[in-house]
Amino acid sequence: KAFPSGKKDLKSQTKFIDVAGLEQAKAEVVEFVDFLKEPKKYEKLGARVPRGGLFVGPPGTGKTLLAKAVAGEADCPFYSMSGSDFVEMYVGVGASRVRDLFKQARDNSPSIIFIDEIDAIGRKRGKGGFTGGNDERESTLNQMLVEMDGFNSSTGVVVLAGTNRVDILDNALLRPGRFDRQIAIDRPDMSEREQIYMVHLKPLKLEEGLDRENVAKRMAALTPGFAGADISNVCNEAAIFAARRAASSVAMDDFERATERVIGGLPKNNSLMS
Ligand code: ATP
Repeated sequence: KAFPSGKKDLKSQTKFIDVAGLEQAKAEVVEFVDFLKEPKKYEKLGARVPRGGLFVGPPGTGKTLLAKAVAGEADCPFYSMSGSDFVEMYVGVGASRVRDLFKQARDNSPSIIFIDEIDAIGRKRGKGGFTGGNDERESTLNQMLVEMDGFNSSTGVVVLAGTNRVDILDNALLRPGRFDRQIAIDRPDMSEREQIYMVHLKPLKLEEGLDRENVAKRMAALTPGFAGADISNVCNEAAIFAARRAASSVAMDDFERATERVIGGLPKNNSLMS
């Protein structure tokens, strides 16, 4: 199933505090949270309510995480699907999945829909050629546009999407009332990496004498270019290394070996880490 069935118990538990760094992006999405919590405030003033936001950035940088946090902060359910799920489907299936997804979200509103890898269905149309599945992609995309255009101020659904290729997106998606707001989600710099390590080190039992701040600082310096997903991987691998040598806590050496392993796997595994 591309997405879970719509139940109130699917409320997201993720909060902004789980998303390290990305301060600018968090500041930008606060408005979505506020709208989901208090739609009346906007309606009363005749404001055009935000419908869609596009998170633009490389893989593993926290786009899905941030979308979940928006849902968590607004205390509402989170529905998601990945654009790549639709690429090799029979004609008509994609469009009907989109219809179902939006219906669930509307039935359980206020709610959030997140579409990961929207470029897989939302790339520029009308190029033709032998790119098999093109018709399917178009009908899926069209259905999404129809659904979003059908929203009104009382629909109470915000649609967020993630991509690392905004340049190939169909312009129709970027028009006002659709994904008209772009929010950059960049790779973390040194101090942001440190903050992300702080989050992912939390569940680990560190060797005596190692403190979390210190490990986070050292690891942030050791892993330039790492995205949040890579950092989460390093922390988990380090704990696995420690378990394999039957240690009772995780040592600095485990982190170093884990880093090598994650770097070794980067080109192959990068897209699998999210
Ligand atoms: P993709 O484009 O590949 O789908 P994404 O940008 O949606 O990637 P996420 O799925 O949100 O990335 O991130 C994967 C995991 O990496 C998260 O579940 C989280 O554990 C970790 N992570 C990523 N960014 C952050 C961050 N800023 N703070 C804390 N953890 C993070």
